[in-house]
Amino acid sequence: MKAVYIEAHGDVDVLQYGDRPDPTPGPNDVVVQVRASALNRLDIFTRQGQRGLAREFPPPLILGGDTAGEVVAAGAGVTTLSVGDRVVVNPRVACGVCQWCGSGRDDLCPRSRFLGTARDGSYAELVAVPEVNAYRLDESVSFASAAAVPTTYLPVWNMAVRRAALQPWETALVFSASAGVGAAAIQVFKNVVGATVIATTSTPEKAELARNLGADHVINYNDEDITQRVREITGGAGVDLLIDHVGADVWAHGFRALRPGGRYCICGATSGLRTELHLGLLFSRQIEIYGGYMGSREDMRQIAAVLNRGSVQPAIHQTYPLAQAAAAQQAMEATNFFGKLLLQP
Ligand SMILES: [Zn+2]
Repeated sequence: MKAVYIEAHGDVDVLQYGDRPDPTPGPNDVVVQVRASALNRLDIFTRQGQRGLAREFPPPLILGGDTAGEVVAAGAGVTTLSVGDRVVVNPRVACGVCQWCGSGRDDLCPRSRFLGTARDGSYAELVAVPEVNAYRLDESVSFASAAAVPTTYLPVWNMAVRRAALQPWETALVFSASAGVGAAAIQVFKNVVGATVIATTSTPEKAELARNLGADHVINYNDEDITQRVREITGGAGVDLLIDHVGADVWAHGFRALRPGGRYCICGATSGLRTELHLGLLFSRQIEIYGGYMGSREDMRQIAAVLNRGSVQPAIHQTYPLAQAAAAQQAMEATNFFGKLLLQP
């Protein structure tokens, strides 16, 4: 099969497009014919060998996590899926046997492994995954839409829906609407929860796209002060919940934008990993902080259900042929896009 793989860490020129052996399914695996794969920051960190993702070569590693396609083969022990099923894949493979996996908190599994980092991923024509990582899709959901979902929707669901329990009468702030997590959060907060959504972004064009996704208010952070605008919009109260995947650059703005008892949800730190926390304000204002990293199988089951119901329409910026994975990754590094970048074999 054709695949995009690396044999060393480095710049985009380490990406190789060529032939790799077809995957053979284990007893509980299905082989998925990939129809679309979505890019994530994790793919770039893996290529570079950064953030604890350095590994030994050989063997070569096929990159890519999020994907959707058709089941073309199934191991002998597979009982819930059949050849021909359309599926979306959760790229985080939990061990299935530890105390966390056994108690429904498989998002805490210390032995989980990612497709495209610890095992061959989805920048390929075929990928083998455990059947529990594949969720059936209705005919009404395109493979492109489904592939755009797992890695961006899972942390949003894990933190804001399951744990911090955003409510329809509440107001949520979404940092950086144009990135995958931001666009996912707007859709989930508006179309699934029914909350009031304030989004931040950097240009009038991106502001328009954020409104089209469902944002009630958009703050252009190049022209407007986030804290002040949030106060105006909420009548001085502050927001009930915010979601941040930007990190150091926005932490202080976000912390000040929360009402007393507000929930700060963070699932990324692309602008920097370290920041300052005012402990006095943390306890006196009774702020809650949630860290989220992907989500549980049950989170993914619920996300697949709203996807099949048509409640969310993931934002897709552009689709590239698999052979042009390097161009797609360069576009992601340039950050001049809104929504997800996809690869199609
Ligand atoms: Zn486990």
